[in-house]
Amino acid sequence: MRLNKEEIKIPTTQNCVFAIRLDTETEQEHILIGELKEVQGFLAGGDNKLLVNEKRPFGSFILECSTPIANQLADVRVALSDSIGKRKTPYFENSKKILEGLWNSDNLIYRFIAVRIWQEYKMACKTKNYDLYSEIEKTSLPLMFSLAEDIKTWQENDPQNPLYQLDSVYFSNPALAIYSAKGVNEYYTTKDSLFPIIVYYLKTVYNEKTYIQSCKLCGKLFRANTANIPTFCSAKCKREQGKINKRRFDKKAKQTPSEMAYKKQYMFCYNRIQKLRKNASDSELLSEAEKMFKVFRKEALRLKKQVQNGSMTDTDFENWMFQEVGKFEEKLNT
Ligand SMILES: [Zn+2]
Repeated sequence: MRLNKEEIKIPTTQNCVFAIRLDTETEQEHILIGELKEVQGFLAGGDNKLLVNEKRPFGSFILECSTPIANQLADVRVALSDSIGKRKTPYFENSKKILEGLWNSDNLIYRFIAVRIWQEYKMACKTKNYDLYSEIEKTSLPLMFSLAEDIKTWQENDPQNPLYQLDSVYFSNPALAIYSAKGVNEYYTTKDSLFPIIVYYLKTVYNEKTYIQSCKLCGKLFRANTANIPTFCSAKCKREQGKINKRRFDKKAKQTPSEMAYKKQYMFCYNRIQKLRKNASDSELLSEAEKMFKVFRKEALRLKKQVQNGSMTDTDFENWMFQEVGKFEEKLNT
């Protein structure tokens, strides 16, 4: 692996692979990105150099696959395919910038795809009739749409066997299993299409009778015991939601008696008017009721301020409302 400074600021590889191991006990995923032989050497116990070696919370992979960059990838695909053996256009330079941006992001899927696409491009430059367009499409397809949205639909449609909902494209590429020498851990590896990795990921989740869900509070993807009942990713988020609910409750409880009384009377009048609108039998009465309601609201707001600054008591305000609503009711009953 070497960094070609003149061309592009991302590593140039010969056979870069993406490897993943899922640990449902520790709720972690382990991602390795690098040359196939380096990944194999590393898993055999060597200190081989890798581009990426990262452990992170379960669900991160799906979340990263669910941030589509369809337009950028389409630009890169067209520009690189059209640039082989030709003078480089601004579109080509723009593609390089896009790939560099992807390589420098925190999203490991973006990073893998950037290296892999550049590798394919270099391959196409020295191989006759190389179908670069198809190769880039194969690599980047999962980032053309939102995976998390699809997963949600599959789980809703068939909670027993969500995998049956997947399109055949998911099963048309192979993945390679590599076993680590120590602990015999299984790493699923792909050189181009991420689809078999996605299948492996979901299969692991469903085999444990769990589902992919996004947290009700923070939106993070995690493994949940149900497909369709929204829940929290962690005790922390659950606690946080409890606090938010309590604040909401406290705020409600803090409402003054005059405010609550006003809301009650307001809703009463409002509902009566809605009923009149629905029946639409007496448009004259409706317009009069609406007028009364408008006057009532305006005057109530003015008096509420007086209650707030202490120049009117709660009881006087409530009595006034009682009278006004009484008049309103009388009008409607005539
Ligand atoms: Zn959460």
